[in-house]
Amino acid sequence: MVLNLRDYKNIKDRRQALESHLSLDLKNIASFSISEEIASNKNCENMIGVVQVPIGIAGPLNIKSSNSKVQNYYIPLATTEGALVASVSRGCKAILESGGVQLITKRIGITRAPVFKVSSIKQGSEFIENVEKHLDIFKKITETSSNHLKLLSIKSWMIGRNVYLRFNFDSQDAMGMNMATIATTDIVKHLEEKTKVKCIAVSGNMCVDKKPNFLNFIEGRGISVWADITIPNSVISNTLKTTTRKFIEVVNRKLVYGSFLSGSIGSNAHMANILSAIFLATGQDAAHVAECATGVTTAEETQEGLYISIYLPDLVVGTVGGGTNLETQKEALSIMGIFGGNNGKNSQKFAEIIGGAVLAGEISLISSLAEGSLAKAHQVLARGKKISNIKYQISNKSQKTNSK
Ligand code: NAP
Repeated sequence: MVLNLRDYKNIKDRRQALESHLSLDLKNIASFSISEEIASNKNCENMIGVVQVPIGIAGPLNIKSSNSKVQNYYIPLATTEGALVASVSRGCKAILESGGVQLITKRIGITRAPVFKVSSIKQGSEFIENVEKHLDIFKKITETSSNHLKLLSIKSWMIGRNVYLRFNFDSQDAMGMNMATIATTDIVKHLEEKTKVKCIAVSGNMCVDKKPNFLNFIEGRGISVWADITIPNSVISNTLKTTTRKFIEVVNRKLVYGSFLSGSIGSNAHMANILSAIFLATGQDAAHVAECATGVTTAEETQEGLYISIYLPDLVVGTVGGGTNLETQKEALSIMGIFGGNNGKNSQKFAEIIGGAVLAGEISLISSLAEGSLAKAHQVLARGKKISNIKYQISNKSQKTNSK
């Protein structure tokens, strides 16, 4: 017998039918506090309950914004990887002791790129010329689809009988993928009517959404983020338990040569770890980690100690819409004071905080690798020992955590 999940109109009935069909007790999936109505209508079809992921808090993260404001933030990280929160917290401690991390962000925009079928390269180039002349009309169509979305630009490519138009929008505080898709669909309808050129798919994979790719890596997508700091030698030895020379050696041999040899897009230690934990905690679309984690970490020796930077060309995040509307995710965003709409300022602040947290994660993991303490930290923190209330430093000699 096959269970037709669509026969069940509410979460409880559907879950109970599944429980009896599979002879299982799903009592933990059944237990949750988020709104059934919002989650099952806006975020998840055939909902049966919720999976709980522990949230730890890292910080304080001391950030210097591009407007020169200095502020401390606590970062919610949803993860099941023991040692991750401790590691990011140790990086935050090193940042605090070094006077804070400098952040620069640039709004690039969210993109949607339909693919059109033309009869020849001649028709394709006339189609592109026509599109380029009518940017103003497409801007108006965009503004009728949303009160917040603005069309910024269109780029085009042609191969054979295929034309790709990459529409780039500013989506203020929303991640914007739904908004961009709705506006692009309206524009495509208008274009098809006027030119008789057929759109084959509203996404032609030149967007590029949810895949690691060189186009976003070079052009940027969402918000591009830069962060840097100089860490004094005293902090390198006391907090990070290593030396600048060993740190740089790991950066060169692992991040530079290793990433080159493996053909990686970007070059970093574990940006995906921090990004996925923040994304899960705050209701971002976790699949975007596939493109967002292609960042670059650089390091140099200076007179004072260690200069280290991160670059995230493609950070696709929002503080309104999508999963941010769920109660627990809203609370996680409110820990950083950035839930909701604020003329694009909240999403930009969120990008800064993420950039700082990613840098903290890179600093700590590269230090552990430089000292050969990575496996031991995981053994202590994720195997058998109490994980709660870690005091961030992993003693280099004893490899034990200091519990409060
Ligand atoms: P959304 O929830 O679809 O749209 C955001 C909403 O927030 C809009 O209705 C917008 O209003 C409103 N809003 C209020 N204040 C705002 C402000 N200050 N800035 C921006 N918007 C504001 O969210 P989305 O970000 O466009 O899309 C996110 C969702 O798309 C996620 O669930 C993700 O998983 C999913 N997704 C969709 C696609 C796709 O192709 N459709 C692809 C990938 C991911 P107005 O627009 O009415 O002004």
